Order: sequence, then structure tokens, then C-alpha cells
Amino acid sequence: MTQTTPQHTPMTQIPVKDNQLIIGGITLSRLAQRVGTTPFYAYDRLLMTQRVAELRRHMPPDLKIHYAMKANPMPAVVQHMAGIVDGFDLASAGEMKVALDTAMPVKHISMAGPGKRPAELNQAIAAGITIHVESFHELKTIAQLSEQSGIQACVAIRINPAFELKASGMKMGGGPKQFGIDEELLPEALKRVKTLGLDFQGFHIYSGSQNLKAEAIIEAQQKSIALAMQLSEHCPCPIKKLNIGGGYGIPYFPGETPLDTQAVGDALAQPLADFKSAVPEAEVIIELGRYLVGEAGIYVCEVVDKKISRGQTYLIVNGGLHHHLAASGNFGQVIRKNYPVAIGNKMHNKDLETVNIVGPLCTPLDILADRMQLPKAEIGDLVVVFQSGAYGYTASPSKFLSQPDAVEVVV
Ligand SMILES: *Cc1c(COP(=O)(O)O)cnc(C)c1O
Repeated sequence: MTQTTPQHTPMTQIPVKDNQLIIGGITLSRLAQRVGTTPFYAYDRLLMTQRVAELRRHMPPDLKIHYAMKANPMPAVVQHMAGIVDGFDLASAGEMKVALDTAMPVKHISMAGPGKRPAELNQAIAAGITIHVESFHELKTIAQLSEQSGIQACVAIRINPAFELKASGMKMGGGPKQFGIDEELLPEALKRVKTLGLDFQGFHIYSGSQNLKAEAIIEAQQKSIALAMQLSEHCPCPIKKLNIGGGYGIPYFPGETPLDTQAVGDALAQPLADFKSAVPEAEVIIELGRYLVGEAGIYVCEVVDKKISRGQTYLIVNGGLHHHLAASGNFGQVIRKNYPVAIGNKMHNKDLETVNIVGPLCTPLDILADRMQLPKAEIGDLVVVFQSGAYGYTASPSKFLSQPDAVEVVV
């Protein structure tokens, strides 16, 4: 049976014109010509800008929106984000370098992550960014480095809360975790911050990632604010920053629906107002990676061979898991599901066929599409993977099998 639309309608904000995807205002074929080679990643500036603007409309006006750089640390993307978000959250000295090359003021930059090395901490102290402390040992190291350099370190404590963010793709709080200091130990940690003479900024509570359920996020945000209120009596000075995390997800697979950010924003208004009236100086921050950039990016590769094996059609492309581990299903998925994929230069062709799209690597794991119905493609056509703006290239084992690198462009 032939359908008129591909079985897996791409969930994407990217427009189509004359049978071609339009990215950054130009057709995909022309963009491929401009880039000069495949595979490549392309990130659409306008889509990132629109996403942030829409989110601001849905969130309470005095909520700060930070960009978590690990989702996409490409310098040109980070430069663009610097102009549209309120701050950056980073997780390594490498990301810090990219962040500090932008105009983002250091007072709006923070660094989290377990196992920060003394050299990294030293750089962060010198830069004047806020360090999210994840353990007692780290606290001590920061104090020592601070004393050696004569620069008072800015610290916030990352709390591993007693609650968890329900229905998350990845849980990063609640129960035993390598992240943050357990909620029960906070009074002791705060005492140490005071005796060590560090510049206390506040709290960071990050409980999970890739969540599409508004109710789950609302609950975690409310609990985070309540926890901060409860701990405020133990703080050496009033809280200046309260980072309540994020975890806002995007849909990847059939049946998933976009997160209702309006509901999240509406539910946050009252707790935020209550917190602000108790601690008027405090900034309340959410930090998002995937939600801000994930849908603004595509991965593009080219069909280099087409063959039939025992009745199944294979499109063999020049890109794969070495550039896009997540699309291959090997980045945190339990059961492999197809990412939204299209033939980007034949978007509306009615002549469909069921294909497997595989990469050039000598491993059966290198799959971009498993039996998907798509417009009939030939050698030279462009296969596009949507939802590729976050956790794409830098979350992939690009050295595996010594294939050429992908190019990344912002359009
Ligand atoms: C990974 C991470 C983020 C970003 O998560 P997204 O799901 O991309 O929004 C934010 N904060 C911290 C601490 C993280 O580890």
C-alpha cells in the first residue's frame, strides 16, 4: 500500500519549498553546494532565535534563561546564543573558552560537573564565573586554589535533591548520584562555605533531561524552589542565584508530543513570585540545552550506494553514527527507534519505498533508518536527519573507523 505522506512525518519546524527543505532561507541542494561537501550539520539561526523568543513569552518575565552549552558547543552557535539568552552553563574548561570568547558577562556564566580538575577550577576562579560545587572535596580544593591566587571564588552548591524528575529521558537527581551534594548534607556544606570564606551565590538543582511532561517539570520546579526556601536559613548570605534546572525535552519519535511550555510557565509564576518576595535580590534561572537548539539543526549526508539484499532495500550514505550517535539509537536509547529522517531534496515526491538507511561503518550499529517509508532515493540524493541541533556531532565518536569529519555550519 502506498501512502501519500512518508510514514514518519518529520516533526520539524523546517519549511519546505519546491520539493526541497529550506534551511536558513536557502534550499538544501544549494546549501550543500555552498558547503562543498557532505556530510554536514546545519543550524538555523532564525529557528534558535524564534525558539528563545517563544519560550520567553511562555515563562514568567523575570525568569532568566541560560543556555547549557554541552547540547551544542559549536562556537558560532554559542556566539549566536550569547545575544539571545541571559547566561551560559558550561561543564568544562574547553566549553569555558568558547563561552568567554563571546560577549556574555562572566557574572552570568556558571560551571557544573563532577570531577572538575584543579586546573579547570583555577581557570574558573580566575575568570570569575560561578562554580557549581558538587562535593566536599571540591569545596576544599576551590578554597585552597582561591587562597593561593588571592581571588575569592564564586560558588553555588549543586544539590542532589531527595526528589527526582519523573518521566525523564535521563535522571540526574534523587537517590544516590554522582552529581551535587545530597540535600541532607546541605546545612553542613553551607557552614563550610562560610568558614572557607567563599563568595556564596546560591543553589543549583538539576534533576533530569529530555522531559516532555509538563506536570513532571512543574512538580520538580516547585519542589526546587521550596527546597531553596527551606535551606535559606542556613545560607551564609542571601541567595543571589537559584538555578532550578530544566530538562525541557523535544519530540523525536512518533507519538511524542511537544512539551507544553505555556503550562510550565503558568505554573511557575506563583512559586517564583513567592520566592522573589522572600529573597528579592535573587535571580531565578532555568538552564536548557536541547530545547533551545535541538530542533534548529539538521544532519545531512549523501546516498553513495543503493542495493537490495534478500528483498530489503538499503541506501548507503556517507554519514552515520560516527557523526550522529543519537540518530543511530546508541546514545541512551533502550529500544532503537528511528529519528525523523527525510530525503531533503525530494520532500514531496509521491513515489515511496521502504528502505534501510545505513552508514559506511563496518558495524551493524551504523543505522540511520530502519525500514522507513520515504520518497524513492537514488545515489547523490540528500538524506536529512531532523532534531539534530543538540547532542549531535560532539556527542558522537567521530574518531571511530577513521572516517572524515563532518562540517558544521550556521545559516
Ligand atoms: C546536560 C545538562 C543540561 C542540559 O540538558 P538539556 O536536556 O540539553 O536541556 C543542563 N544542566 C546540566 C547541569 C546538565 O548536566
